[in-house]
Amino acid sequence: MLNKFLCTFFISALLSSVLLAQQQRWQQQIAYQMEIEVDAAKHQLKGRQKVQYVNNSNETLDKVFYHLYFNAFQPNSMMDVRSRTIQDADPRVGSRILDLKADEIGYHKINALMQNGKAVKYEVVGTILEVQLNKAIQPGDSCTFDMDFESQVPLQIRRSGWNSKEGIEFSMSQWYPKMCEFDYQGWHSNPYVGREFHGVWGSFDVKITIDKNYILGGTGILQNPNDIGYGYQDAGLDVNHDDKKELTWHFKADNVHDFVWAADPDYIHDTQRLDDGLVLHFLYQDNEDYKDVWKKAQKMTVKAFQFIQSRYGKYPYKQYSIIQGGDGGMEYPMATLITGKRNFGSLVGVIVHEVMHTWYQMLMGSNESLYAWMDEGFTTYASAVVNAYLFNNNATNPHDGSYRGYYYLAKSGSEEPLSTHADHFSTNFAYGQAAYSKGCVFLGQLNYIVGEGVFDQAMLQYYKDWHFKHPNPNDFIRVMEKASGLELDWYKEYWVNSVHQVDYSIADVIKSSKKTKDTTSLKAVSGNYFINSAGFDKKGTTIFLEKKGKMPMPLDVVVTYTDKKLTQFKTYHIPLEIMRGHKKDELLNGKQTLKKDWKWTHKVYQLNIDIPLQAIEKIEIDPSMRMADIDRENNLWEK
Ligand SMILES: [Zn+2]
Repeated sequence: MLNKFLCTFFISALLSSVLLAQQQRWQQQIAYQMEIEVDAAKHQLKGRQKVQYVNNSNETLDKVFYHLYFNAFQPNSMMDVRSRTIQDADPRVGSRILDLKADEIGYHKINALMQNGKAVKYEVVGTILEVQLNKAIQPGDSCTFDMDFESQVPLQIRRSGWNSKEGIEFSMSQWYPKMCEFDYQGWHSNPYVGREFHGVWGSFDVKITIDKNYILGGTGILQNPNDIGYGYQDAGLDVNHDDKKELTWHFKADNVHDFVWAADPDYIHDTQRLDDGLVLHFLYQDNEDYKDVWKKAQKMTVKAFQFIQSRYGKYPYKQYSIIQGGDGGMEYPMATLITGKRNFGSLVGVIVHEVMHTWYQMLMGSNESLYAWMDEGFTTYASAVVNAYLFNNNATNPHDGSYRGYYYLAKSGSEEPLSTHADHFSTNFAYGQAAYSKGCVFLGQLNYIVGEGVFDQAMLQYYKDWHFKHPNPNDFIRVMEKASGLELDWYKEYWVNSVHQVDYSIADVIKSSKKTKDTTSLKAVSGNYFINSAGFDKKGTTIFLEKKGKMPMPLDVVVTYTDKKLTQFKTYHIPLEIMRGHKKDELLNGKQTLKKDWKWTHKVYQLNIDIPLQAIEKIEIDPSMRMADIDRENNLWEK
């Protein structure tokens, strides 16, 4: 009794510690304290930064690295050369960095850096600061870095900078020396070439002193709203700045991996409050052309937040700010910078996309450089669902555009695997279509493979299991596996690590009574195969399906009857053997008739059904169009 108890106790303790290790991946931890003085006329700032860094890894760190993003905005930087030499240059950048004058370039100058109060050796290498530590940081230990720096904000070219093309004075993203992420995959000190980000979760305490005429918005909650005013103060309070030249804006944010802000003297500042207390801030220019559209978009944003939280998980912060700035739309923790000159649909569209990034980047924090598709693709997928809800548009597949983008990529000859590092794609085209379209289709097809109900439930589970933990593709697919009970590694390997394509066809349809030794009726099918008459239903029909593409998929084959008085269609489901199971019935397809597994090595599958040939109007592989079959013409057989 006792032994048995001890033994059970021991095993369960062991099991739970293994589980815990799997679930709770270690994260480095950081706390920034920054005091910034902005010289708005010169577009320069002086900063003091204190960083508390905790090494939660099991490795000893003798170096650390910081990003110095502004250094990218200098002639001949890696970003400049990359932007000019890539075959399909981004017109927003092109050769604009090369043409920057001395007072338009960006830079960070590090004047002093200390570890635990003692000066350390460091070297600025382009956009990375390499720091050789005096004292290595042991596993579990923490240390303090104190830095004095001076920066010049670049003329706005990409995302960050002064004087955006809509006349916003300061779009301040990637604006401070930011510690690079060290995680279970090592250091990520990627030089900045204008693409993706990865950061350490932590807290920010930021004081920005700037000319009193500027109105600010950004990450974090304003700590001194009643000193500032500008719509942040308590209701009814009148704030007067006559006696001041400058104001110090004090922001705090917890559990974020970046901090953005923007400033302009002409911002209108509106707020919307949700029932759960969440406050949305809108900062946009007082401009006759689009002011009304910005007013109108606010209620839609409230509606979007309510829907997204019910579908993809709770928004964990108290505030979110939608700020006119930047050069398109870019997501940051608790805020987004978007361009403002838009019609209503476009404005709501970009807001929904950037807000959705809160879930698929800000809360998950997947390494965007390695898995850009896990933020852009997932965001594209979810925002299409949100837009369909907001605009009550259920007529077409909301992901149509992404499927078209993927087909275009797949047929272009320039496709590179999704596993390519974002900075290293050969073309902007291949990167963009891979991250956004193919990444969205990754989810669209999973919805098809595991079934819609299970899929939705798993997306919510993904949030619950992995927010604040930097999940990778395998972590995600494991959530889907657990939710569906299916083995899905093959899907991830094919879709992410290869450029193999899906193409299934209906090769032939015959009466089952037909003598099956006669292979001439199967002329459309290529290669050698074996026809089995044992499974024939004498009065039924035999459908020969062919796998023409290299990538295997389970099939939904939907047969529509000629006689419309009958139930209109019947769905046959053919699982892949390597899935070790099959999806549940879907509302979309009705009750499915399960057929034997398809072995991926076999080119041809013989589907025997009990419907007489003359009763069949048409047969279609995946009429839901969720399977990204690159040739849909051969998916259909019609009488
Ligand atoms: Zn995006």
